[in-house]
Amino acid sequence: MSVLIYIENTDGQLKKSAFEVATYGKDIASQLGTEAIAISIGDIATEELSKLGAYGISKVLHITNSDLSTFVNQAYASIITAAAKQENASVVVLSNTFSGKGLAPRIATKLEAGLVVGATSAPTVSGASFEIKKSAFSNKAIATVVFDSPLKVISINPNSYPAKNTGGSASIENFTAPIGSNDFSTLVKDIIRATDKVSLPEAEIVVSAGRGMKGPENWTMIEELAEVLGAATACSKPVSDAGWRPHSEHVGQTGIVVSPNLYIAIGISGAIQHLAGVSSSKTIVVINKDPEAPFFKVADYGIVGDAFTIVPKLIEALKAY
Ligand code: FAD
Repeated sequence: MSVLIYIENTDGQLKKSAFEVATYGKDIASQLGTEAIAISIGDIATEELSKLGAYGISKVLHITNSDLSTFVNQAYASIITAAAKQENASVVVLSNTFSGKGLAPRIATKLEAGLVVGATSAPTVSGASFEIKKSAFSNKAIATVVFDSPLKVISINPNSYPAKNTGGSASIENFTAPIGSNDFSTLVKDIIRATDKVSLPEAEIVVSAGRGMKGPENWTMIEELAEVLGAATACSKPVSDAGWRPHSEHVGQTGIVVSPNLYIAIGISGAIQHLAGVSSSKTIVVINKDPEAPFFKVADYGIVGDAFTIVPKLIEALKAY
């Protein structure tokens, strides 16, 4: 038996979430008294993969060829399923990223496994009982799910399980999987915007703004605040719908779910659909001129006032700090 962990990379560099999911899978393996094995797909150097050893991974399976250089849902799901079968994995763990969201249900179907998406903590294992907590009803509740299937697929939200470097080394093995043309029936175009900005799903700090900013021309101060803090920028849905900001910045029920250490919401009302994507942030700061704005109910710190006065002062103070 083993726990199989799917590890993501960007341009040959392990993602921050890769270390989190490795730690998460290793902690499950420890509870089950079994081995944590990783699978990595696409071009990545052996030295980079061997970093996973320090996070409790004993072996990394690696598969790459020119067809696998971009993410293809069916092919990646077939490979991870084949690896799970080869390693006799009872649990498959992924990060609940864009690709993880597509892969987890496919792998669960192929393995006829139980599926939990968006786990918020490590499972509790006692004998044959395997329970896990996950967010439910757009983060309004925490559900306890009891698996009754022998095989399990679990995805964990980025930023919700801290990576732990405990030392150790991993062996790297080449992996081959029987994938065919059917696995490549969807053409995936991977468009990576050249930017030096912090990646939103993995950001520790997020500066987010809404319709209160009045128009796209006023985002200079949001960008500046984000730069001073080393933060990623985000926005509410109407802002991206209006084309003020790219859709890749839209957070909420229909956008990206983020769990940063600090989420600063500027000129955002705090509608339930927005909160669904941000309420698991560790600390929430709200700047809004309306003291009745619903966002204040979930804020750790709130500033009632005009963003056009407060944000420049905040930038000035942070620069002087
Ligand atoms: P508004 O509601 O217009 O709020 C603007 C806020 O700015 C107000 O609170 C106002 O007091 C404040 N303000 C104005 N001027 C200033 C100023 N000068 N200084 C400080 N504050 C100021 N929304 C999302 O964000 N994400 C989603 O994923 C999402 N999914 C949805 C899914 C469905 C099915 C539906 C129906 C809606 C969804 N929405 C989503 C939309 C959501 O219901 C809200 O309409 C939206 O979040 C409101 O955006 P906003 O707060 O930017 O704008």
